[in-house]
Amino acid sequence: MSDRSFLQWPFFDEAHRDLADRVDAWARKELADLDHSNVDETCKALVKALGDAGWLKLSAVDPEDERSKIDVRSLCILRETLARHDGLADFAFAMQGLGTGCISLFGRPDQKTEWLTKTRAGKALSAFALSEPASGSDVANMAMTAVRDGDDYVLNGEKTWISNGGIADVYCVFARTGEAPGAKGLSVFIVPADTPGLEIAERLEVVAPHPLARLAFNDCRIPASAMIGNPGDGFRIAMSVLDVFRSTVAAAALGFARRALDESLDRVSERELFGAPMSDLQMVQGHIADMALDVDASALLVYRAAWLKDQGAPRVSREAAMAKLYATDHAQDVIDKAVQLHGGDGVRKGHIVESLYREIRALRIYEGASDVQKVVIARQTLANSKGV
Ligand SMILES: Cc1cc2nc3c(=O)[nH]c(=O)nc-3n(C[C@H](O)[C@H](O)[C@H](O)COP(=O)(O)OP(=O)(O)OC[C@H]3O[C@@H](n4cnc5c(N)ncnc54)[C@H](O)[C@@H]3O)c2cc1C
Repeated sequence: MSDRSFLQWPFFDEAHRDLADRVDAWARKELADLDHSNVDETCKALVKALGDAGWLKLSAVDPEDERSKIDVRSLCILRETLARHDGLADFAFAMQGLGTGCISLFGRPDQKTEWLTKTRAGKALSAFALSEPASGSDVANMAMTAVRDGDDYVLNGEKTWISNGGIADVYCVFARTGEAPGAKGLSVFIVPADTPGLEIAERLEVVAPHPLARLAFNDCRIPASAMIGNPGDGFRIAMSVLDVFRSTVAAAALGFARRALDESLDRVSERELFGAPMSDLQMVQGHIADMALDVDASALLVYRAAWLKDQGAPRVSREAAMAKLYATDHAQDVIDKAVQLHGGDGVRKGHIVESLYREIRALRIYEGASDVQKVVIARQTLANSKGV
C-alpha cells in the first residue's frame, strides 16, 4: 500500500482526498495487467474508459460553465495515481489535457463547445503540436508557416515528437504568422486530423512505447476562425499551457517514483540475504531512506506549484520548473535504486521496475528538458533578487 499521508498536507481539500481514493480504487480494478502490445488500440480504449468513468472531466474546463477552471491539484492527483498504476493510462489522461490546453485556457466559447465536449467524454483524442525537427527547446526558432489567404490560413511545414500523433482527432498546431520576428510572430490553430494536407509522415518508436508521430503539413487550408486567441499570441499561449501542465509531468514522475519505492519496500521485506531480510542490511536502509526523501521532497514541490496555481497565481513558472526538474530527475534516481535492489529481476523484460526505468526517461526531456528548467529557475531567481 502506497504512503497516503501526503494527502493530509494543507495543500488539499476534502474533495482532493476523496478524488485520490476514488481514482486509486478505479485504477486498481481497471488497470491491472493492462495489455500494452498494441499501444494505439490500448490508448484509444483507455481514453474511452477514462471518459466513461468521468475522470476526463477534470482534464479541461467545462464548456457549459464560463467560470470553470482547471484544478491543477486534481490533475496532479490523477496523474500521480494513474502513473503509479500504469504509464500508458497516465499518458492517455495527460494528453486529453495538454492536447486541449490551448482551447481550455484561450479558446472561444464555440471552440470549447465543439472540442471539449468530446475530449472530456473520451469521444475525441487530442494532441499538442509545438515541436519541430529544428525547434524543440528553441521554440522561437519555429519554421512552420501559416499564411493568410482570404478567410483561410494555409499551413506548410513539419511537427515532430507529437504525442497521440496518428491517433488524435484534433491537433493544436503552432505556426509562424509573422506579426514580429521570433517568439512574437507565432499563432496557434485547431486542426482536425482529417484536414486535407495534414499527413502522418512517420510514426516514431521510443524506449517506452507511446503513440508518437512526425506530421507533415502541405498546403493545409484551415478557416481563419480556427485560430485560438489573436495573431502573434502563440508563444504566450504555449508558455501558459506549459505553466499548468509542467507540474503535472512532475506529478507523473512522482507516481513512477512512488511505485518504485513501494515495489522496493516489498522486495527488501520479503527477500532474505545472508540469513536475514534484505531490509536488515544498513546499506539497503540507506537506499530506502534516499528514495523516501526524494519522493516526499518531490511531492512537496509538485503540490506547492499546483496549489499556488489554483490560488490564482497568473504564472508559476519558477515553481513548476522546480517541481518538474526535481521530480523527474529524482524519480530517475529512485527507480535506478529500485532496479538495483531487485538484482537480476530488476532488468528482466516485463518486470515493473524495468518498465519504470524506461518510462521515466522521456519526462526529463519533454515539456522543457531539465537543463531548460534550470534556465527558467535561474532567470526568475536572479530577477527576484534585483533591488535588494
Ligand atoms: C516521448 C516524447 C514525447 C513528446 N511529446 C511532444 C508533444 O506532444 N508535443 C510537442 O510539441 N513536443 C513533444 N515532444 C518534444 C519535446 O518537447 C522536445 O523533444 C524537447 O523540447 C527537446 O527538444 P529537442 O528534442 O529538439 O532537443 P534539443 O532542443 O536539441 O535539446 C537537446 C538537449 O540540449 C539541452 N538544452 C536545450 N536547451 C538548453 C539550454 N537553454 N541550456 C542548456 N542546455 C540546453 C538539453 O539537455 C536538451 O535535452 C516530445 C518528446 C518526446 C521525447
